[in-house]
Amino acid sequence: MLGFLKDRHRKRLKARPFPNEWLKIIKNNVAFFVRLSANDQAELLDHIQIFLDEKRFEGCDGLEVTDEIRVTIAAQACLLLLHRKTDYFPRLLTILVYPSSYSVQERRPITPEIWEEGKMFRSGETGRTMGSMVLAWDIVKWGAADPSDGKNVVLHEFAHQLDYENFAADGAPALATRKQQLAWREVMRTEFASLRAAEETGIPTLLDTYGATNAAEFFAVSVEAFFERPIMLRAQHPRLYAELQQYFQQDPVEFSAERTRAG
Ligand SMILES: [Zn+2]
Repeated sequence: MLGFLKDRHRKRLKARPFPNEWLKIIKNNVAFFVRLSANDQAELLDHIQIFLDEKRFEGCDGLEVTDEIRVTIAAQACLLLLHRKTDYFPRLLTILVYPSSYSVQERRPITPEIWEEGKMFRSGETGRTMGSMVLAWDIVKWGAADPSDGKNVVLHEFAHQLDYENFAADGAPALATRKQQLAWREVMRTEFASLRAAEETGIPTLLDTYGATNAAEFFAVSVEAFFERPIMLRAQHPRLYAELQQYFQQDPVEFSAERTRAG
């Protein structure tokens, strides 16, 4: 669709009244929603209207895609879009939803010499050239219900989609200026190296050590921590927090449920 037609269509979608049934689903399933400011709630609902108009959902393994599934996924994904000019995850067309964790045949290294082969369970995946994403509904729902355990498969997979916006899966989303790109690269390199080192020595970390896999996974787990454990992330990794805050134009400390968890 031509750019100006797309913009006009999106404006119309935003002007539509938000379905009450959908709002009920969000309030029931998506714990962070009520903690957002009124302005952010309104902006999120606008984004959800567009997201649900533009993305196709398919149920797998006999799952029937309901409004509950679509809206619960959309609300979490659209949290990543607040306050920024966005083209709504342009590389993503279709979201495939399994009822629960699904298994894939996989080979992976235990050590560089020893490989494990067999069924691995996954809660989600996406790829730069796939045009699609796979999500496990039970994990999605569980992630939405607990906003401060540091784990959220929707935020994780959609962070990968943000990473792809500049056509690379390198852990750097589209950043406005060269200066920002350089600062980002420097901070991510240092933080990634320290997560790698912690993983090797077995030191407990705030960031999921799955992020030590590569730069793209590091970005995705950082996004999970940024939205779910912002107080801890800001305290332990201030430079990483600052880069994410600048990119997302958000300060999740303001709506975090983490405080109540700690206290
Ligand atoms: Zn990932």
